[in-house]
Amino acid sequence: MSVRGIDTVFLDRDGTINTRLAGEWIVRPEQFELLPGAGEALARLKRAGMRLIVITNQRGIELALFDEAQLARVHERMAALLLPFGVALDGVYFSAAGKGPRTKPEAGMFFDAKRDFPAIDFSRSVMIGDAVRDVEAGAKAGCRTVLIADEAHGAEVLREAEEKRVKPDFVVKTIGEGADLILRW
Ligand SMILES: [Mg+2]
Repeated sequence: MSVRGIDTVFLDRDGTINTRLAGEWIVRPEQFELLPGAGEALARLKRAGMRLIVITNQRGIELALFDEAQLARVHERMAALLLPFGVALDGVYFSAAGKGPRTKPEAGMFFDAKRDFPAIDFSRSVMIGDAVRDVEAGAKAGCRTVLIADEAHGAEVLREAEEKRVKPDFVVKTIGEGADLILRW
């Protein structure tokens, strides 16, 4: 366990750990695939003693596109895919609502995690995600923030960040690059 520096990494799910489905929700476990390098990236963070916590908006539940039981099966698949990398997530928090205090860009899920893991210190935590709302939510909780601006969506996301005057601490292209950055912090 690192004595100083970062000890908790909050992670967005879709587009950060797993591939996005263009215009579609991940409803079934077989739709969930790790992004290239994601398992290895999480493994490096885990080996460094970091707490790994997923913070994900799942508005599809509110829209009745899937339910909590289906989401749980998708998350079982996520756990199963990460297992060969030696990665066990410490927590997975989701918000079923399209808007509200728990839904990113608000920070409620971070405070849920803090209630479950009182040792979390947001000043020693990072939020990494591929959307502006991830950066906004992480910053509201008091975390440092890393925005993944990938080949496919990076330009669009950076434009949105600039328009909203949201400034991530760092911008990276992949979760692997993000993990290396966090390890050097
Ligand atoms: Mg995302």
